[in-house]
Amino acid sequence: KMGDTTISYLIDSANYVFLIDTFLGPISMGYIKDYLIEKNLTKKKMIIFITHGHWDHYWGNAVFPEALIIGQELCRTKIMADGQQNLEKYIDFAEGTIQIVPPQITFLSKLSFPEENLEFTHTPGHTKCCASCYDVLDDILIVGDNIEDPIPYLMEGDLTPYITTLENYIEQNPKVIIPGHGKEQENLDLVIRNLEYVRNVSQNTVDFTEFTKTHILLHAENMKFLANVAMENQTRDLALQYLQSGLVALKQENYDNHQNLLRELEDLMHSI
Ligand SMILES: [Zn+2]
Repeated sequence: KMGDTTISYLIDSANYVFLIDTFLGPISMGYIKDYLIEKNLTKKKMIIFITHGHWDHYWGNAVFPEALIIGQELCRTKIMADGQQNLEKYIDFAEGTIQIVPPQITFLSKLSFPEENLEFTHTPGHTKCCASCYDVLDDILIVGDNIEDPIPYLMEGDLTPYITTLENYIEQNPKVIIPGHGKEQENLDLVIRNLEYVRNVSQNTVDFTEFTKTHILLHAENMKFLANVAMENQTRDLALQYLQSGLVALKQENYDNHQNLLRELEDLMHSI
C-alpha cells in the first residue's frame, strides 16, 4: 500500500552494491548509508534498481548521487510523466527533501549482470512498468508490489500480463520471495492466492466468503478502479460487472468505514 513501509534491499555482489528501491527519501535511506559504512561497502560502486514507478519506491534516489539507477523503460516514462505531480500530492509522506530522479539506464524485457549473478526482468502486473530482480546465487526473487498480502492492488485495466507474471513466478519457484511491502515469503502460498484472486477478477468468479474486512475494502477499491477504466474504454457491461462485484462484497458485512466507498460505487453504478 502506498505510504506503508516499503522494503529496501541491499545486495553485495562481486563488483557492486545493488540497492533495490529507495523508499521515501533521505531519512529512511540514512539507515542504508550507516549500514554501508558499518559493513565497509562505501568504496563499491552502487547500482540502484527501481521495481516500479510508484513514489514510495523511488523517492530516496537522489540520496546516492554517485549511484547508477536502472529500471524498466516504462518505469522511467512513468516517473518522468507523474513524478513531480505525485511529489506535490503526497508531500506529507516525504522523509526529508525529495528530488525526483528517474532511472538513467533502462531495459525492455531483461537486463543481466552475469558476473554479479543478478537478473532484472520486466514483469508487468501491479503496474505496466513492474520489474523483478532475481538473485541467482541465493535463489531469491524480489518482486516489488506484484505480490501483496492479502490481495494485490490492481492498477491496470488489462489483467492478462499480471496473470502471466504470477504464473511465471510459480514456475520459477524461488527459495525466497521478497515483496515490496510486508513479510518475505518462503513458499508460494501467497503467490498462488494472489494469482487465484487476479484470475477470479478477470473471470468474474471472486468468492468473498473467506474475505476479511481488509480484503473486502481492497477488493472494492480494485473494483472501483477497474470499473472506471472499463467506463473510459466504453465497455459498459464490464464496468457494471466490476461495480456489482464491489457492491456485493461491501454489502456482505456492515462495516462503518465501508459506507463512503459503498456510496461511491452506487453513484458510479447510477451514472452508467
Ligand atoms: Zn506500487
